Amino acid sequence: MNVHDSEQMAELLKQAGHEETTQEKKADLLIVNTCSIRRKAEQKVMSLLGRYRGLKETKPSLLIAVCGCMAQKYGDELKEQFPQVDIVVGTHNIDRIPGMIERVRREERPPAETDFRESVPSIGIIAPPRRGAVSAFVTIMQGCNNFCAFCVVPHLRGREESRPMKEIVREVEYLAEQGIKEITLLGQNVNSYGGMLKNGDNFPRLLREIDAVEPLKRIRFTTSHPKDLSSELMACFGSLNKLCEHIHLPVQSGSNRILERMNRRYNASEYIEKVEELRKFCPSIAITTDIIVGFPGEEEEDFRDTLKLMEAVKFDGAFSFKYSIREGTRAAAFEGHVDEGVKGIRLMELQALQERHTLDWNRSLEGRTEEVLVEGFSRNSGKDMTGRTRSNRIVNFPGSSALIGKMLPVKITEAHAHSLRAERTDEEEVPHAG
Ligand code: SAM
Ligand code: SF4
Repeated sequence: MNVHDSEQMAELLKQAGHEETTQEKKADLLIVNTCSIRRKAEQKVMSLLGRYRGLKETKPSLLIAVCGCMAQKYGDELKEQFPQVDIVVGTHNIDRIPGMIERVRREERPPAETDFRESVPSIGIIAPPRRGAVSAFVTIMQGCNNFCAFCVVPHLRGREESRPMKEIVREVEYLAEQGIKEITLLGQNVNSYGGMLKNGDNFPRLLREIDAVEPLKRIRFTTSHPKDLSSELMACFGSLNKLCEHIHLPVQSGSNRILERMNRRYNASEYIEKVEELRKFCPSIAITTDIIVGFPGEEEEDFRDTLKLMEAVKFDGAFSFKYSIREGTRAAAFEGHVDEGVKGIRLMELQALQERHTLDWNRSLEGRTEEVLVEGFSRNSGKDMTGRTRSNRIVNFPGSSALIGKMLPVKITEAHAHSLRAERTDEEEVPHAG
């Protein structure tokens, strides 16, 4: 989501007459878009700001701006701690950056803009796709109302706000006209899309509208909260041609006691029932997840319950994290913080299990023909192209740049832990999605 926020910011600044550069040394303004989800992300920003101090010493006219979650959280403190920072803009105030640049140039040092607004003005900025891009993000909502005990999002991004359906569909139509084949709809909990619009619009309805947009080929979305995953939404996987067979459904833990402490509002068996129902609607669906180890109070037995749930579901992939204390969240004040060493051991065991499951799924595809959307050159070889299957698996295969943007059938020849190897078939481009 932060990547898309950065794209929107670049567009906003372009409209205000600025030009983008990827070379730090050439830039007159450096913007650091930050995340506070885990402590590690914050530490990276601190060291980056240290490096930028050196750049500013050699070029005093350079402006440095910090925006996103850390800007929201620390506000003016950031400017005190890092005197090289000129501008601090919180999560609701991206639209104010151009005005703040003007103010700094008039030799004012504007205070941090961190107020929460009724509606986030930058929510609808349409970032034109990059040259040659085949996929794009579309924000459908901001903020979150769930207050999971470990999470800073509601505190730093504010309450949930859905964009009107018409605006979203118009943006998707524009992107498809620009040659975008695949869009990913973004929100912290897309399943609750529309709830606050109070006009009957909901996420399945939005998906059906977008499915009718031509010449778009693929739709993805992230993220889904399991408690709000409705049968109506699950049915979309079996009935909408463009909706790719993949869902990211963060479970966080397999222990009922920990899930309750996390305020997730489902238990392990309810989660497994949802997975079973999803697989009934769409047997080939790939299911990925997020898991936190070492949440306060997590005992060895709770961790074993997480491994059991993983065995029961057999996820296609998982992002797993050691719990990291986030000030201001409920869990920060909980008793029973788990030793860092123990968290590390649990994480390693969990990741080893997940690697086995991912490899099993990948191996089950060997010999099969899959549709890939060709994205560009493979990272590892200039002779290989890379793309994703509808189930979101990375596939590398021999080819040339002429294939970028095409939907190709390829035959999977070899499964690896993080990708698949394939060869071209004699068939030409897949004419229709689905
Ligand atoms: N909205 C999504 C959901 O409800 O599942 C998740 C959004 S959060 C930005 C992405 C992931 O970061 C979470 O699913 C969680 O696993 C992880 N995360 C959030 N807070 C964390 C914390 N304090 N420590 C470790 N991981 C955390
Ligand atoms: Fe954070 Fe996601 Fe929970 Fe919202 S639903 S509080 S974003 S983890």
